[in-house]
Amino acid sequence: QRRNPGEDEFHQAAHEVLESVAPVIERHPEYARARLLERICEPERQILFRVPWVDDDGEVQVNRGFRVEFNSALGPYKGGLRFDGELQLGTLKFLGFEQIFKNALTGLGIGGGKGGADFSPKDRSDGEIMRFCQAFMTELHRHIGARTDVPAGDMGVGEREIGYLFGQYQRITNRSEPGVLTGKGLGWGGAQLRTEATGYGCAYFVEEMLQARDTSLDGRTVVVSGAGNVALHAIAKVTDLGGLVVACSDSHGVVHDPEGIDLDLVRELKGEDGDGLSAYPDRRRDARYEEDGSIWAIECDVALPCATQNELDEDDARRLVDQGVIAVAEGANMPCTPEAVDVFQEADVPFGPGKAANAGGVAVSALEMQQNAARDRWTFERTDERLVEIMREIHGLCRDTAEEYDRPGDYVSGANIAGFRRVADTMLALGVV
Ligand code: NDP
Repeated sequence: QRRNPGEDEFHQAAHEVLESVAPVIERHPEYARARLLERICEPERQILFRVPWVDDDGEVQVNRGFRVEFNSALGPYKGGLRFDGELQLGTLKFLGFEQIFKNALTGLGIGGGKGGADFSPKDRSDGEIMRFCQAFMTELHRHIGARTDVPAGDMGVGEREIGYLFGQYQRITNRSEPGVLTGKGLGWGGAQLRTEATGYGCAYFVEEMLQARDTSLDGRTVVVSGAGNVALHAIAKVTDLGGLVVACSDSHGVVHDPEGIDLDLVRELKGEDGDGLSAYPDRRRDARYEEDGSIWAIECDVALPCATQNELDEDDARRLVDQGVIAVAEGANMPCTPEAVDVFQEADVPFGPGKAANAGGVAVSALEMQQNAARDRWTFERTDERLVEIMREIHGLCRDTAEEYDRPGDYVSGANIAGFRRVADTMLALGVV
């Protein structure tokens, strides 16, 4: 705390991992001798930079850019860029730290990083967003590369922003090197399924969790928070797998539709000229919209928090447990508070932590890097088959590791220990660097 003041989310994430890996350190004194915990908690490099740009009124604006290059033991730093007006270093350190272990779980040779800017793309024109992305890349380009650091999108950074960033990278470096960024458009080096991957992967993971308990999503009532990239694709795949998604939400309110969420309608309402989720009941008779409501008050078998960090607290968890929830998996990064996770675990509700359950996105990003390096293109179906396989492997690894450490069914410990061991063993092999 003294060393990193004001970084509460980072402390929360680090505390969770350190607690889980305590038994590993007991079994492996060589990790302690190599001071691996201290080394893993310290980013290899943090880059903070000025991003000056000119808005549509001709006014100069100044934002702050960040890139936290946390750990490259397993491969190039890999992790998204987030544009959010409130963004702080502590949030990126938490996300970068989580990313190390998530990426390790995929087994695909990628290190951990995260970045972004305290820039809010909301209410900005397309021209402003392009100029901001260009200004941001004018500094970032010197730190990234296909074999060094490969950023992707995150909240506020989608295909359009990746396009502007990539265009500026090419212009400055005179290198047409698609492997420097992932999340690209399909026509210019992007991978099939990247957009769907996190939400689909989360649904595949929860299906594995349920099958481990001899049941499945088929016929289950599901609640998915959020109405962004992860949430919408989680809803789509849960529905494919036979689940009935009865609620979703955004930062303004909650939609409850007992007949099943109409995904096309949500996409339309959330689109550029859409009227917002509040207009949903105008088009679906039995649905309700509650401004500032809590989505976790809605009864369900399976809960998938897919919106943002710390959106599901202890009281929400208790309510879900009392109402009979049978599985929870995090589509977002750290949406459940530590107290909420304790409630699920004490009630023996299988709980899939984000670093395992939402690893599908970064896994397909790694497949995008693979295709870029080989100048190859995979079909949607081939990529989806690979994603299913990867999510199954991650689930199996977390389950088996939890059992090995006498914590059967504890996916949090399983994910933290398995991810940590992959990174720690490699760091040991590489010496004190
Ligand atoms: P988006 O920006 O596409 O969507 C976020 C959604 O969450 C929006 O609908 C937003 O509402 C809603 N939201 C934000 N805050 C709240 C809140 N307090 N209560 C309810 N809803 C809220 O982001 P993504 O879907 O891409 O990402 C969601 C989460 O998943 C993040 O934690 C991200 O880090 C994580 N993640 C994303 C990956 C990806 O591939 N996209 C990969 C791995 C993790 P509104 O529309 O009103 O803004």
